[in-house]
Amino acid sequence: MKGSDIRRLFLDYFEQRGHTIVKSSSLIPRNDPTLLFTNAGMVQFKDVFLGLEPRDYKRATSAQKCLRAGGKHNDLENVGYTSRHHTFFEMLGNFSFGDYFKHEAIAYGWELITEIFKLPEQRLWVTIFEEDEEAYEIWNKEMGVQTGRIVRMGEKDNFWAMGDTGPCGPCSEIIIDQGEKFGCAKPSCAVGCDCDRYLELWNLVFMQYVRDSSGELSALPNPSIDTGMGLERITSVIQGVNGNFETDLLRGIIGDIEEKIGKAYGEDPATDISMRVIADHSRAITFLISDGVLPLNEGRGYVLRRILRRAVRHARMLGIKEPFIYGLTNRVNEVMKDAYPEIEDRIGLVNEVVKNEEDRFLVTIDRGLDLLNLEIQKKRDERMLTGDVVFKLYDTYGFPVDLTQDIAKERGLEIDYKGFELEMENQRHKSRLAWKGSGEEELDPLYKEFAAGGFFVTFTGYLRTRDSGRVMAIIRDGRLVDSIDEGETGELITNVTPFYGESGGQVGDRGIIEGGSGLAQVNDTTKPLQSMIVHHIILKKGTLWVGDEVELRVDEHHRYGSETHHTTTHMLHAVLREVLGTHVKQAGSLVAPDRLRFDFTHFSSIDEGTIHRIEEIINDRIRWDNRVTIETDVPYDKAIEQGAIAIFEEKYGDRVRVVSIGDYSKELCGGTHLNSSGEVGLFKIIHEAASSSGVRRIEAVAGESGWRLIKGQEDTLKEVSMMLKVSQSDLVPRIKKLLEENVSIKKELESHKSSLMSSKVGELLESVKIINGINVLSLEVLGVGPQELRKIWDDIKGRINNGIAAIGCKSDGRAFILVGVTKDLTNRFHAGKIVKELANFIGGGGGGRADMAEAGGSRPENLNEVLERVVEIVNNN
Ligand code: ATP
Ligand code: MG
Repeated sequence: MKGSDIRRLFLDYFEQRGHTIVKSSSLIPRNDPTLLFTNAGMVQFKDVFLGLEPRDYKRATSAQKCLRAGGKHNDLENVGYTSRHHTFFEMLGNFSFGDYFKHEAIAYGWELITEIFKLPEQRLWVTIFEEDEEAYEIWNKEMGVQTGRIVRMGEKDNFWAMGDTGPCGPCSEIIIDQGEKFGCAKPSCAVGCDCDRYLELWNLVFMQYVRDSSGELSALPNPSIDTGMGLERITSVIQGVNGNFETDLLRGIIGDIEEKIGKAYGEDPATDISMRVIADHSRAITFLISDGVLPLNEGRGYVLRRILRRAVRHARMLGIKEPFIYGLTNRVNEVMKDAYPEIEDRIGLVNEVVKNEEDRFLVTIDRGLDLLNLEIQKKRDERMLTGDVVFKLYDTYGFPVDLTQDIAKERGLEIDYKGFELEMENQRHKSRLAWKGSGEEELDPLYKEFAAGGFFVTFTGYLRTRDSGRVMAIIRDGRLVDSIDEGETGELITNVTPFYGESGGQVGDRGIIEGGSGLAQVNDTTKPLQSMIVHHIILKKGTLWVGDEVELRVDEHHRYGSETHHTTTHMLHAVLREVLGTHVKQAGSLVAPDRLRFDFTHFSSIDEGTIHRIEEIINDRIRWDNRVTIETDVPYDKAIEQGAIAIFEEKYGDRVRVVSIGDYSKELCGGTHLNSSGEVGLFKIIHEAASSSGVRRIEAVAGESGWRLIKGQEDTLKEVSMMLKVSQSDLVPRIKKLLEENVSIKKELESHKSSLMSSKVGELLESVKIINGINVLSLEVLGVGPQELRKIWDDIKGRINNGIAAIGCKSDGRAFILVGVTKDLTNRFHAGKIVKELANFIGGGGGGRADMAEAGGSRPENLNEVLERVVEIVNNN
């Protein structure tokens, strides 16, 4: 029987007994932020056990992907040293949610083991919780297990609890004695020994109590069952091989390693350990990456990195100097893809990520190992590796601390954790300072790290606007998180996306990402790095989790608008070079769904006629309806040779994408475009001006926006012709006529005003007083401004001799005074001097000639009084 047959047999056995087969959940737990990885079959049923989540079945069975390499369950240190521990393994389980209990659970387990799997009873042992008499009775009386084969264990080993509070209960394990050759040969060796002889196959958990916050136990109303059996362990027993690594589930990987190093498994214990570590870790790596974990310096990503680097180090110990692990992931895929198709889907990504991480670590590992060996030599007597060494290995050579610790331990040394933490804190402090003001803080270091780890996003948006992908990371406030909830905003990265990330002037796509149990609205998409596309989202409904399979739908209308303006921008660029000259170079570009902005080098202004010509040529070419052709993967030099225009600020790779329109435009471009120029429909420049010295800017609209512009203009015309009550064709003559009428009305108004004025002056003259034989006029004129005062004086001086006038007015909250002296009196009176004197009293200033002077001030309330003073002035003369 192959491992896959045993998996199938187990599920079938329980399905036939009323259990629903439930698919394995992801290694990233969905509903448990406290848990780093799924580490048992029951994890996906936690809420069902707690009665929080209804399911339409009360019995379930599953084969669950598990990882025990971090958090509470951590078997990392055992891996390689035993034949039964893995980081990644599959747990077979059957579950009862308040349905059957202890009796059936034990009976099913025993029947499957002894009658279906046919393991010999004389080699089987069971353990129970020391106080669980009920379990003892069932095993002994009903299953017929001899008293001597039932081992009682304490709370530490055989009492299970979900957490500090909540469901808990005793467990019972089924154990097989594998015989002396698996044993440690110590006299104390028995059930519970650390060695491989008494192999724990299956653990049955009887959830029958709840523990409250005071630690008190009470009976659970509906006792439940949770069991777990390691597939690799039962397979090794059934196949009768020497431990998990010789089962068909892992033997292929071991075989690949044997072939690589030219040494057989089982020849040499030290080599065997490394082979087991590598085989185990290559499975963990493959499953982690295909569930969406990427090598990083924190969280789950760091666990992956540690596992991977540990594998690399063991490969190094076997003399393998080049990237090797990434190839083993293909073997993992081959063995596991039928049961876990998600690996097959992601194997390309897995290869890429692993290869990259190996490349990076192989650069430093040798030097790191040299340093470590040297230090270990030096520290012989102290038995302690100091914090600065551990830190240097970590920081400079990429050695995870537990890797250093492993190596130190092999040589009998401890490491100084505290000292290491101190060094870490120092460095965090320094790097915070270094980031500030470097201008680089804008690019999230997380993105850089993703990219450095070999992760890339596959962009499918040239071909389609809908696609499916998997959520690889969610970022909120600059931190990686597992999920994002309704109403929250954040950044979401998928392995595949049809969303165009803002670049080359073209704005990012908008749209919807939906899947799992959430729906996100994408408000913008950016491309912080060549290999990275980031969706900026707000979650509209439910929750999205890392690992979720999602549907990505681009807002097609928004995208089409951008494409329209992008193709138009290329046409404009080409036509500008034809009309203005080849000195025209793109200096900046914005391609939005509703407009374009194009900055280009040109040194003089562009006249109206030229603007029209450019518009006309482009509109002609729209009607030519040339195909937009796109060639990808063209060698850069070849593209340039063929006359393609490269924008000089952009960085291009060796192989480029070339976008051509007809035979007049050819540009290197990564943007999205229309299929043919005819789709542009319409082109209209709305603005042309200097942008900076030597750079002009054109703003224009095309397609639907072009039509909207023209429609808006038409609406205005309509409104005007309605207001004027003439047809549009008569608008121009009508407006001409209106303007002419306006001119003649103005003229008429002027002459009316002046005749009005002279009659006013007639009235004014009646107030003239004769003082010392001089005609004196002092008066505020109502309803006029300073300009009119001048006209009034002109009029007055023509009508009187031997006179002085002080006339004033108020306007806009200010007072104005004009003093006039007729020519025959200028030898005695100086208008300028008089006005200066008067101006003081209205809080202002002024001056002028001897015969006429003006002043203005801010205190109009004094005006009348002030004007009167001219009488005194004449009197005193
Ligand atoms: P052990 O004491 O052998 O480490 P455990 O008590 O940690 O096992 P459980 O947590 O009860 O095991 O898990 C249920 C079953 O899953 C075990 O009986 C075993 O068959 C399997 N299993 C547990 N841990 C591992 C592992 N690291 N690698 C492979 N199989 C495992
Ligand atoms: Mg364990």
